[in-house]
Amino acid sequence: MDQNKFIEELKKINVTITQKQMDQLNKYYELLKEWNEKINLTAITEYDQVLLKHFYDSATMNKVTDLTKVNTLCDIGTGAGFPGMVLKILFPNLKVTLVDALQKRVKFLNEIISRLELNDIEVYHARAEEYAKNHREKYDIVTARAVARLNIIMEYTIPMVKLNGYFIPLKGNISEEINSSNDAFEKLSCQLENVLEFQLPIEKSNRTILKIKKTKPTSLKYPRSYAEIKKRPL
Ligand code: SAM
Repeated sequence: MDQNKFIEELKKINVTITQKQMDQLNKYYELLKEWNEKINLTAITEYDQVLLKHFYDSATMNKVTDLTKVNTLCDIGTGAGFPGMVLKILFPNLKVTLVDALQKRVKFLNEIISRLELNDIEVYHARAEEYAKNHREKYDIVTARAVARLNIIMEYTIPMVKLNGYFIPLKGNISEEINSSNDAFEKLSCQLENVLEFQLPIEKSNRTILKIKKTKPTSLKYPRSYAEIKKRPL
């Protein structure tokens, strides 16, 4: 996906991008490529592929919610910043929190924030299940891409979502995961409001975005310890 196609595809999902934002994404790409030679950030390094599979893919969250109207967003297991960093660049109105368990990725993310002069964005080096215990009911939206199976990741993220807020994971093909997460929906008091399936432009791989609404405060029992979650997933 070249830059013109990227801008055109963003428009179709109601994301307009200024020259400044495009310059920020290009700088982000350069730093991603540079740091990727020293630390493992991504297997995707070609410019056209990063535009499609990291930058555009992150922006698709705007298909299920108008991100210009959202205040706080937390991205769990953000890795090299997908989708959270991209959303911060495209939607400067967002107050973004990025969380990852790997210190070297946290260092990279802080470098991006400083080089792109971004405000209202912070990065935490933490495991999600620990971070969630001290940041309950705090965010309008919590998101995660490619971190864990749905029933596992919901236990980390739902406690952090404000009442009537949303957990919006970005996934590949997941009908089987949804079916095996019924207990998680019930025990964590949340409802699946929307399942949006679509294909990425050009390469046509399948994507699914779930919109999961938190309908009641989460029991203080959750999240349990990592060992417990792993041994007995909801
Ligand atoms: N979200 C990014 C993306 O889509 O490109 C990164 C995906 S990568 C496959 C998974 C990331 O989640 C890694 O950076 C890993 O360190 C982080 N991670 C996995 N389990 C985690 C946990 N329990 N708490 C915090 N981060 C976690």
